[in-house]
Amino acid sequence: MKHLPSILLCSGLCLASAAAVADTDLAVVNRIKDQAFNHSQVVDYMYYLADENGPRLAASPGYRRAANWAVDTLRREGIESARLDPFGTIGRSWAWSSVAVQMVEPQATSLNAVPLAWSAGTDGTLTAPVVFAPLWDDDEDPQQSDLVALAQRIETYKQQYAGKLDGHIVLLAPRRTFNLPSEPETQRWTTADLDDMKSARDPLLTDVYEWPLLKLPVDTDERWLQYEVVPAEIQSDYSGRHDRLMDRLIRFLNDEHAVAVMTTNTEGNGGVIFAESFGSHMASTSIPPPAVQLMPEHYNRLLRLLERDVPVTLSVNVEASFPEENAEGANVIAELPGKVKRREVVMMGAHLDSWHAGTGATDNAAGVAVVMEAMRILRTLDLDLDRTVRLGLWDGEEIGHLGSRAYVREHFGDPVSMTLKPEHETFSVYFNIDTGSGRTRGILTQANDMVRPIFAELMRPFEELGVTAIVPRNDWGTDHQAFDAVGLPAFDLLQDQLDYWSHTHHSNVDTVDHVLPQDLMVSAAFLAALVYDAATRDELMPREPLPPPLPEPKPLPEILRD
Ligand SMILES: [Zn+2]
Repeated sequence: MKHLPSILLCSGLCLASAAAVADTDLAVVNRIKDQAFNHSQVVDYMYYLADENGPRLAASPGYRRAANWAVDTLRREGIESARLDPFGTIGRSWAWSSVAVQMVEPQATSLNAVPLAWSAGTDGTLTAPVVFAPLWDDDEDPQQSDLVALAQRIETYKQQYAGKLDGHIVLLAPRRTFNLPSEPETQRWTTADLDDMKSARDPLLTDVYEWPLLKLPVDTDERWLQYEVVPAEIQSDYSGRHDRLMDRLIRFLNDEHAVAVMTTNTEGNGGVIFAESFGSHMASTSIPPPAVQLMPEHYNRLLRLLERDVPVTLSVNVEASFPEENAEGANVIAELPGKVKRREVVMMGAHLDSWHAGTGATDNAAGVAVVMEAMRILRTLDLDLDRTVRLGLWDGEEIGHLGSRAYVREHFGDPVSMTLKPEHETFSVYFNIDTGSGRTRGILTQANDMVRPIFAELMRPFEELGVTAIVPRNDWGTDHQAFDAVGLPAFDLLQDQLDYWSHTHHSNVDTVDHVLPQDLMVSAAFLAALVYDAATRDELMPREPLPPPLPEPKPLPEILRD
């Protein structure tokens, strides 16, 4: 998932110290590198995950196919324990198969579009006039992330547009403003960038947060800082509430007989369609009218025509379906059993679900390929593992980290009450990867000082491959947060961003073409070495003190109550 570029963290790298190589088993690292570089399977894994089975929207048939493929493949590699691990109902499943948006008047032309997840299909081609009825005046409006302001705006919107949308295609987004590209669209971290990351969080910054969370800072740097300290449960509560507010708008659009909705995206520099959802997987919410995301240049053209009072008529055909109303979620779990400390567990994981506009190649088939490859390497080398090594491919990350959160609740504890389970005690560490296909350049420590010397030593044999950065900050926005929330050591890898934020993240060009196999190979080798070390070192990974239970939430303002 991840909403912000990691560059916003001006935080910490520490070059691996010159301390002795001590415990690192360089002979094993050598064998791991040989497997990763000379016998790699990552290209094959990418093909099956993205080209053949992508996209993999949570609860969709594509997700099921990919999860079954992962189980079969792990078993074929000799990991017999690979299995689907169902965790309960996700809600509606949704899939799309075609979209066509055509301008009929004033000029016949095709418009580039992607359907928004969980919105209805058109049931044939519909042709209708367009009306501009924006929810916000401009795409930067800070009130969009202020829940009270959003609720008030939806109420005003209803009064403003009652009786005016019937039979129309509603253009809901404001005009997209472009800043022409001024920076390279593909970037690797420079030495200076990595040096910048070594500073810890400013000690003067407060970690006070409200619960429930009612608004997010407008400034993206400030938003990052806030999300570093807001507990994961409170973050998901905020997004769930946001979805439920949007349901009020969707019900209004349905009541007013709007025939379709069009929006556009605020990411990127144009030409690419970034598309997530309009409506929700939750069965308690309404199914929206057919909704599509238009390429921003095409969307803006429609607005310029309407501004000059030129009527616009479009025809729209979307084939989308809801195969199940109560689809089950299922993670993929696989284990290599430990020999002398079998009950102690080291985990690595990546989310298997994706958005649906492209094939989910960089988000996050790339991470899944890396984790499966690291598992294959450990299995193939038949290394002696003291602790059990477990792989988790998570379902539903993009819609609220559903799979990893359910897994942590079932096995380790409840992050709200901090009631812990016996497996919490024998768990060592979880490693996560979820920032595209870029090469691993280091790791974020979640501000746990005790792991710094361990990671510094493990990076030394990977320095020449560019893996050097120890960032003493909290990462957020992906599955390690579920483990971190109950006080377990859990770390996300720092990766080069390449064109993840400028092009592929949740977009229609999230395809295998944007994946660099050599970067995945380096990440897989480093991850395998991290996991091997954690499974064989004397002690469990050092832990910080447990977080306290969450306080009772304050009552919600009246306007936000369901
Ligand atoms: Zn992701």
